Amino acid sequence: MDKKYEILKNIFGYDTFREGQETLVDSALSGRDVLGIMPTGAGKSICFQVPALMFEGITIVVSPLISLMKDQVAALNQAGVHAAYINSSLTEGQYRKAMENARRGQYKIIYVAPERLMTDSFQSLVQEVDISMTAVDEAHCISQWGQDFRPSYLKIAEFVSQLPTRPILAAFTATATVQVQEDIAQCLALREPVQVVTGFDRPNLFFDVQRPRQKLPAVLELVKERRGRSGIVYCATRSAVEKVCGALCAEGIPATRYHAGLSEEERLRNQDDFQFDRKPVMVATNAFGMGIDKSNVSFVIHYNMPKNLESYYQEAGRAGRDGEAADCILLYGAGDVSTAKFLISHSDDGALSEGERAALQKQNLDLLNVMTGYCKTTGCLRGYILEYFGQAHPNTCNGCGNCGGTFESVDITIPAQIILSCVKRVQKHLGYFVGMGMITQVLRAGKGQRVLDLRLDSLSTYGLLKETPAPLLRRYFECLETGGYTFIEPEHSTLRLTERAGAVLFRGERVTMQVKAERHTPDTFRKVPAPGIVSVNADLLAALKATRNRLAQEEAVPAYIVFSNATLSDMAAKEPRSMKDFLEVSGVGRVKASRYGEAFLETIRQFFAAQL
Ligand code: ADP
Repeated sequence: MDKKYEILKNIFGYDTFREGQETLVDSALSGRDVLGIMPTGAGKSICFQVPALMFEGITIVVSPLISLMKDQVAALNQAGVHAAYINSSLTEGQYRKAMENARRGQYKIIYVAPERLMTDSFQSLVQEVDISMTAVDEAHCISQWGQDFRPSYLKIAEFVSQLPTRPILAAFTATATVQVQEDIAQCLALREPVQVVTGFDRPNLFFDVQRPRQKLPAVLELVKERRGRSGIVYCATRSAVEKVCGALCAEGIPATRYHAGLSEEERLRNQDDFQFDRKPVMVATNAFGMGIDKSNVSFVIHYNMPKNLESYYQEAGRAGRDGEAADCILLYGAGDVSTAKFLISHSDDGALSEGERAALQKQNLDLLNVMTGYCKTTGCLRGYILEYFGQAHPNTCNGCGNCGGTFESVDITIPAQIILSCVKRVQKHLGYFVGMGMITQVLRAGKGQRVLDLRLDSLSTYGLLKETPAPLLRRYFECLETGGYTFIEPEHSTLRLTERAGAVLFRGERVTMQVKAERHTPDTFRKVPAPGIVSVNADLLAALKATRNRLAQEEAVPAYIVFSNATLSDMAAKEPRSMKDFLEVSGVGRVKASRYGEAFLETIRQFFAAQL
């Protein structure tokens, strides 16, 4: 057997490479630099780990986060590969020991934090040993255009240039924009890299946007429906994290929290609780980011809309890394756009000039519009995302809340006329435009002090829509904006009319709104499983999970490091009865088979004996 297949099977337990992997592995093995752009969960690690095990010398993997390194090294060690990490989490003694082992050639793969590359001790090590390849994980951190820019990544090129022999350079990222891709190749000084861009689709993810009347009860409901599964709830602010986490805990859901306002110690502890499934639900701001390599996350709920679609896809994409079906649900509400705008206008943009800052803000507002479009579209959500990333899509996927759900056209000409006329009258009365909040108050007969002070209650449109619930009124506003009858003036967020509004007010143009008649839910999606997802005996799967938990506890590693959910599903489907059959299960390599095989085979034996 070809050596690379032997390694793929014996170490990692897989029979075939996935899309893009083999080209990247072959190119690195032939001495070429490579740049792999593949979505989360596509299997980037294999692309550098397989060649690393075939090269003579050591492979250095630059990785941005401690938890990510720990996890990958734990997974490699479990598979029988000697690997180590070098970062600030090591004690002085552990660090010295790791360096000694590295000098003695004990490790094929060494993960290192970028800050460590240029330290004296690491430099003296790399000058002595043979380095075959330097792999850069999460390579988009090198780009100032990306959201995860890390200045320490800029040191990588210098590090490589100081090595006695230039190793092969391999860079990987899930970030899709061309600008970032070009930046990576340039900043790392890649030499004519073989570039592989695989599709960005994640067929096992179900996408949905919901507009609950109140978000807190909605998020509680969604998490309760998924009890026993691991998930992340992303919130825009620390206070929302506190509120949601508190409410989940009060309902008896084992949840923990993560945001920049917590001490380093608590953040590490909470992350660990999540990682080890002691608390399978994490409520976090986007500070809980890149380092999450937890493969069994089965839902990501956004309590608030993120600032742009890239962040959204990256965060949502943390679900279903193991290939199992998973849900990505965004709760969209009225305040989201203003919160995002606030965050954009208050973002720390370092030492930018006035002009640069204005350009950046404009760019960020444009990106926000794309994100808002996702929340409002009645078309295929997956199609919306993929098209944004430049990938053609038939615009129907059967795996999102919009596809399969049916929409009805509702005539809303009368309320539309009332709203437009109200905006016009308020402007005439005051001599200036006001925001949507004020117009809503006037239409719903609000008694707020400003409304009364400005005598807006004297207008003929005052209270004309007082029976209309606020969320429906908001939908009307959105529909008028999408239809090009109104627009929000960005500087003061005032609601204004376009010329087209005149057609509705004076020339009999009718306005219709698309309303979802029937929702497509994750459950209906499950009935049409994504390719590769097979239905299995749920009781057997539960028994296998229990065995996995026991083994994980005994070895003090997270459960998914023992075997991923995808591996357990395949095991439940194949029902292996011998070690030979056990080795046929996807994700079972030789070392893991000898370590865990007996325990799982015994579980399967007992399970079927009990059925007799
Ligand atoms: P990424 O870094 O691209 O997000 P990972 O390297 O963490 O993805 O891989 C995601 C999951 O896919 C892991 O559970 C991994 O074991 C699995 N995987 C990778 N390559 C293959 C393959 N060729 N066949 C089956 N599963 C694979």
